[in-house]
Amino acid sequence: KERMLIEKHLRTAMKGNEFFIYYQPQIDMSNGKISGFEALLRWNNKELGFVSPVKFIGIAEETHLIVPIGEWVLKNACSFLKQLHKRGYSDLIMAVNVSILQLMQEDFVDIVQRTLEAEKIDPKCLELEITESVMMESYQAVGDKLKRLKMIGVKIALDDFGQGYSSLSYLKQLPINTLKIDKSFIDSIDSENCNDSITGTIVMIGLKLGLTVIAEGVENQEQLEYLKKHKCHKVQGFLFSKPLPEEAAVNLLANN
Ligand code: C2E
Ligand code: MG
Ligand code: MG
Repeated sequence: KERMLIEKHLRTAMKGNEFFIYYQPQIDMSNGKISGFEALLRWNNKELGFVSPVKFIGIAEETHLIVPIGEWVLKNACSFLKQLHKRGYSDLIMAVNVSILQLMQEDFVDIVQRTLEAEKIDPKCLELEITESVMMESYQAVGDKLKRLKMIGVKIALDDFGQGYSSLSYLKQLPINTLKIDKSFIDSIDSENCNDSITGTIVMIGLKLGLTVIAEGVENQEQLEYLKKHKCHKVQGFLFSKPLPEEAAVNLLANN
């Protein structure tokens, strides 16, 4: 019943301007500064109230509504990034989650390129996040597009890394720039097993492969210290900030 309700309201959500985007900062460990933001979709419906993306993204995919919604997220996140660049934060990057259904679109690379051109954004300031499991299942179908995007200069991040089943030899060949270590591996860091957690090894693999390594879901100081010790490049999580509306993100930058 809930599923059907969500689907019904999802169909009119775009027209009703019910979507908005929150931005969560990513922190560069080398200088403690905000290096970019991840765009996270939010939905507030009159009848259902706030619905978590965990609940509605899957349904948006099943109904293919994710294609126009994803394009809307890309456009708006790029337009916000341009505003930030204009304010003088010209090195910031924007990470945008993309669904496999968007990547399957014949013209996806063109859409990304057109969006960047419309906002006059350097492609290297955009990072597209693709979950590891999707990348592994659908690489045959979307690998060429990812290579084209990477050639243009757009960055590709492997999201939720460690949840899927990448073989390490395969990982070396993927057209990716960034490994985003899944929150479950960050959760498993605690003061007791700080020295022998597998998480450090995962960071090391990323570093050895020449990738940017980012940890997601960092919630406490112990996790941060551990990641610092293992030379993880960037962190993102509630310890620094929850995802924020535009204005709050701008304020955070000003105080960073
Ligand atoms: P994700 O891309 O892995 O995003 C990270 C999720 O972890 C976000 O949940 C974020 O709010 C949450 N998070 C960040 N730091 C912490 C922390 O320290 N502790 C905890 N407990 N959680 C933290 P959110 O915003 O609910 O998004 C869930 C998922 O929905 C995302 O996972 C992503 O897969 C998907 N999603 C969100 N926005 C979009 C979008 O625009 N397009 C697509 N295709 N998927 C999206
Ligand atoms: Mg993500
Ligand atoms: Mg993730």
